[in-house]
Amino acid sequence: MTNSKFEEINRALRQHQRFAILSHVRPDGDALGSQLALALSLRELGKDVRVWNEDGMLEKYSFVPGAKLLSKPASVPEDVDVAVALDTAIQNRLGTTLTAIRSAKIWVNIDHHPSNPGYGDIVYVDPTAPATGQILFDLIKNQNLPLTREIAENLYVAISTDTGSFQYPNTTAHTFELAAQLVSAGVDVGRVSQQLYENYPRRRSELLRELLATAHFEAGGRVASFSLSLNLARQLEVLPEDNEGLIDHLRAIRGVVVAVFFEQLAENKVRVSMRSKSEHVDVRAICERFGGGGHVLAAGARVRGTLEEVKSKIMGAICDVIGCES
Ligand code: AMP
Ligand code: MN
Ligand code: MN
Repeated sequence: MTNSKFEEINRALRQHQRFAILSHVRPDGDALGSQLALALSLRELGKDVRVWNEDGMLEKYSFVPGAKLLSKPASVPEDVDVAVALDTAIQNRLGTTLTAIRSAKIWVNIDHHPSNPGYGDIVYVDPTAPATGQILFDLIKNQNLPLTREIAENLYVAISTDTGSFQYPNTTAHTFELAAQLVSAGVDVGRVSQQLYENYPRRRSELLRELLATAHFEAGGRVASFSLSLNLARQLEVLPEDNEGLIDHLRAIRGVVVAVFFEQLAENKVRVSMRSKSEHVDVRAICERFGGGGHVLAAGARVRGTLEEVKSKIMGAICDVIGCES
């Protein structure tokens, strides 16, 4: 099944000329790394490739090879032969890149979110893959698509970030085998890791200090949360990307099973990020109750309401699952 699906994707890639490679709003390393890896491989084949993300390239990932190829979408909609959505569970999380495509002959959907409903003409969703970058690596290898050092480095960024540096339980022997092949293809692990994990702006640590000051523990310490108001974000002049990964400081605490981060957004909405340390506590199911999605151990949602309203609703839903009397 894998091979015939890869063959189908391969034909779509090789037989067409104009491409748009897209991924979700508020991109992470898997989104941007996957986009650039596939775009660079297609460029090696001489294709005409647009690499669009609603948020453009983030400062944090601007070190990756080919970063300059990635831009915000064109303001005048364009026609392409093939549009590829990567790492995007719900089509509307493509944001403004979706409307920037006037027409595409073929939509390809490659993802690892179990909640992906399978939109598009050619669909490859593997919820067992820890990162979309891992699926792309397998596709590239299986179908003999170009794999340069630059492409390998983008795939490494995608996989390293989505596995929490090869630590989350979705990391398998295959993930390490594949990482070894990427290193053989020229990835400088020390340099990439330093760029990814030891190169944060100082304001991120200042943000962490403020977030920890709001930390709350419930259910006998099994649920931990902190929150960021619009006011505080303005005061600290933080960028949305600055808070990526900070929730791990809550998850890292002994006894914590569910970690939650509430980030107030404009227009009376709150972005909720949730992490679980137990396969028995499915945070995706909780987030789906609020129109969100994700994976069993990492999920999110955007919920209408003030910070206080959303906190109380979400905490209620978590307590329904784990029981908070103790
Ligand atoms: P985050 O907490 O933003 O890092 O997201 C964790 C996981 O949940 C990712 O796999 C996201 O794709 C998914 N996710 C986050 N926000 C949403 C949302 N609003 N709708 C659906 N899935 C989401
Ligand atoms: Mn992602
Ligand atoms: Mn991903």
